[in-house]
Amino acid sequence: MAAGSPAPHSGGGRIAGCDTPVEADHAAASGHGDASACAPKSAATKRAEYLSWDDYFMSLAFLSAQRSKDPSTQVGACIVDEDNRIVSVGYNGFPRGCSDEELPWARVADSPLDTKYMYVCHAEVNAVMNKNTASLKGARMYVALFPCNECAKIIIQSGIAEVVYLSDKYHSEDAYVASRRLFDMAGVSYRQLVPSTSRVVLDLRPDSASREDDAEGRLS
Ligand SMILES: [Zn+2]
Repeated sequence: MAAGSPAPHSGGGRIAGCDTPVEADHAAASGHGDASACAPKSAATKRAEYLSWDDYFMSLAFLSAQRSKDPSTQVGACIVDEDNRIVSVGYNGFPRGCSDEELPWARVADSPLDTKYMYVCHAEVNAVMNKNTASLKGARMYVALFPCNECAKIIIQSGIAEVVYLSDKYHSEDAYVASRRLFDMAGVSYRQLVPSTSRVVLDLRPDSASREDDAEGRLS
């Protein structure tokens, strides 16, 4: 959208055609007039099962993790700005141009050089580096695991203001104690997400896109 262009449906503009499903609050905000005349025919009220912002962004972090080649740990991260716009995603993997086939994925080996730890970028770092905005100041990061100290340094330097995580299973390990110490000193807040939705099921079969009443493909 060009700078200065009005936002879609703002300023009382009409929405073409009353066949377009319009939520009542959308119609009111747009000055669309009689919302009831243009309400969806199949439902009088908005859908109740939609994802919360927190569950949505955490789900995106999990979806991103599915891109990971790591056989033992798949982690994803999603960063959103203060207006809940997604500004980055990332997952754990080797640096760009470094072969997934040639570098080791082992956790234990005779030499540290034969383990993944020497080479892998954590999801948090990749998400920070992948940002599609000039600054992450004030942004929020969603990540399944509480960040390690190396990621905490990057998170702090990026300007991210809050970290939302699911698991803190390494809580007492030094790297995570250090991470909390850094976050506390830098004023980066962190909170453990208690999701409203325990599972998100995606059904990518073509026919599922238009299916309305089947329980599959919905939240459970
Ligand atoms: Zn890390």
